[in-house]
Amino acid sequence: MEWFKKTKSGLVSQEKKNIPEGLWTKCQSCGEIVYTKKMEDLFWVCPSCNYHFRYTSKQYMALLLDDAKLDEFDTNVHSVDPLKFKDSKKYSDRIKAANEKSGGTEGLITGLASMGQVPISFSIMDFAFIGGSMGSVVGEKIARSIERAIDKGIPLIIVSCSGGARMQEGILSLMQMAKTSALLSVLAEKKLPYISVLTNPTTAGVMASYASLGDVIIAEPKALLGFAGPRVIQQTIGQELPEGFQSSEFFMDKGFLDKIVHRAELRDTIISLLKYMWKR
Ligand SMILES: [Zn+2]
Repeated sequence: MEWFKKTKSGLVSQEKKNIPEGLWTKCQSCGEIVYTKKMEDLFWVCPSCNYHFRYTSKQYMALLLDDAKLDEFDTNVHSVDPLKFKDSKKYSDRIKAANEKSGGTEGLITGLASMGQVPISFSIMDFAFIGGSMGSVVGEKIARSIERAIDKGIPLIIVSCSGGARMQEGILSLMQMAKTSALLSVLAEKKLPYISVLTNPTTAGVMASYASLGDVIIAEPKALLGFAGPRVIQQTIGQELPEGFQSSEFFMDKGFLDKIVHRAELRDTIISLLKYMWKR
């Protein structure tokens, strides 16, 4: 006995063809197909598996900051190419292309803002700019962001999203790890709070410096966190890596994180922390 019968041939494929592009989004983690409008309402978090799609720096600012407003600083700091570095492309050409792609943010947007009326010195990494990599300019802008928090006596928030140090600047990019870490110790001496927010991915030189030095460190679920890539580690130590290695959940389990926070609760969580940790 037949339960269903196709009465008109080609009807299903015809319908599929009529769906406008971008109306549906396929989850990169579980394959679920979700109505794009619904994904926007859900802060781009998969309703089926909780996978957090990558958010842009602008989307994070709209999500986190009061009135989505940032008084931006240090927009006139630009990268140079001191080593005249060239791999498959000239570094100077990469900078130019990244500037055009990102709108000239140089890997980090920084400024003054408020969250729940608490004034903050705010920085957010821009993954669109050479993988959010940390070169001299990102390091300098982070440093200035910390100094602004110190000068004004206000909390510091850094939202990280980075593949690590920018290899095209060699040792100059690695020096930024020491520079930012040293300044964070001054911030700590002043007893000003620093909340570090880790998004997918936060790795290498950034993870090994300011991203892991927060008074409170929070991460989005299932974010890739770590220093070297898993294959490099596996080859170096010659051992199988545990399941879930380098995820937020693994880091939480091992005591590296204070809290894993769903994107929808990120703003409220940070505000309640700020109000607890800082008094005018
Ligand atoms: Zn999913």
